[in-house]
Amino acid sequence: MRACTQLYLEPNRGDEDYLKFLSQKIEGISNAGFRILAIWPSKNTALLRNVVNECKRSGLEVYLWYPLLCDVPVDFDIEPFKVVGVAVEFDESESAILQEQKKSGEEFNFLCPNKVIEQEEFYTTFESFLETANFDGVFFDRIRYPSPTNGLTQMLSCTCEKCREISKETVKHFEQGVLSLVERLRRSSDVKTTVAVLQCFYSEHKDHIEFRERSIVKLLSKYVNSAKSRGLKVGVDLFTPSLSFLVSQNYQMIVEIVDWIKPMIYCKTFGPAGIPMEIASLIKIFQRLNPSTEDCLAFEVLKNVFDLKIPSKLDTLLSKGVPITNFRKELKMIQEEFPALKSRVYPGFEAVFWPSIASISKSMVKEYLKIIYEGKFPGFFASWDINKIPLENLRTIGDFIENTSKG
Ligand SMILES: [Zn+2]
Repeated sequence: MRACTQLYLEPNRGDEDYLKFLSQKIEGISNAGFRILAIWPSKNTALLRNVVNECKRSGLEVYLWYPLLCDVPVDFDIEPFKVVGVAVEFDESESAILQEQKKSGEEFNFLCPNKVIEQEEFYTTFESFLETANFDGVFFDRIRYPSPTNGLTQMLSCTCEKCREISKETVKHFEQGVLSLVERLRRSSDVKTTVAVLQCFYSEHKDHIEFRERSIVKLLSKYVNSAKSRGLKVGVDLFTPSLSFLVSQNYQMIVEIVDWIKPMIYCKTFGPAGIPMEIASLIKIFQRLNPSTEDCLAFEVLKNVFDLKIPSKLDTLLSKGVPITNFRKELKMIQEEFPALKSRVYPGFEAVFWPSIASISKSMVKEYLKIIYEGKFPGFFASWDINKIPLENLRTIGDFIENTSKG
């Protein structure tokens, strides 16, 4: 069982105390039996190099944790590269929790893959990070379009000049489709009609959705080739299968070009990619579009659209997230759809204690690990940052690694 985890490096720290603190964390996960650590690309390259060396001394395999389409570690203005959405006529703001998470230094401003691929500086920045230290692989993250957390306008992007030019008529048709979707959702007052409106939208704009999927894979391929030409292994962070179509991550296309995948099946997280956060954001979008909408209508609609077990009340969703049974269900979906992929799936669950984002207890960790064990996966990801994984969760995982290695 290959246990993997991640380390986020704070952008403005590189002092001796910080390095000492990180060294202790690294020693802790190495002693617990972890094999792989994916490290965030700090622009403080001396710190990054020191941390990688520390991991190597502890016998860990190190991956560069590289964000492709937001929080990209470049030094120039990213404004011209941002995705463009269709402006719709209602007041929309991103989630308050996203605002909170931004305080930690992550921006969650998404860029257009078709603009990023054209700007060589994004690519050379990535290559220079690969040169920074002796990495064993690259773990690509944020390979996607914005999710419901970023609001409807961004979620239904990109309609920038570049996308317009290369997609030909598709973008124009999509823009009209978004405006009509908004109008139709505003008028829908029952579950059946609303579900039909959504299904109709996604089927009418299949060409644009496929254009987005190809745009993502084209960019990812370029970066994967660079990593592979250096003999590095490649893993990717993906949305949970039930929600992946919202961000145009096509599992089928992506698994073809990478070594392994980490589906992020976060049942308790109120951060981007967390199932509760994405569902709550969709509920809020419905409410803003149609203020007379009762919560229960929006929940019923989502239950029809997604094959997920979600509570029926916003209060319950906000306080408890979604049941961990979804973790099993989502993994089963991957195993059934891609039977050949089994040896390359590292299920990702959240193991952090981070009030207002995710407060994961020891018993929840046990529940996740039991499902991974029963599913006979080759390993797992305790996400998403060892700075935020409490000691007792780390011990629980360490005991699990020890017990499974015995038997
Ligand atoms: Zn674009």
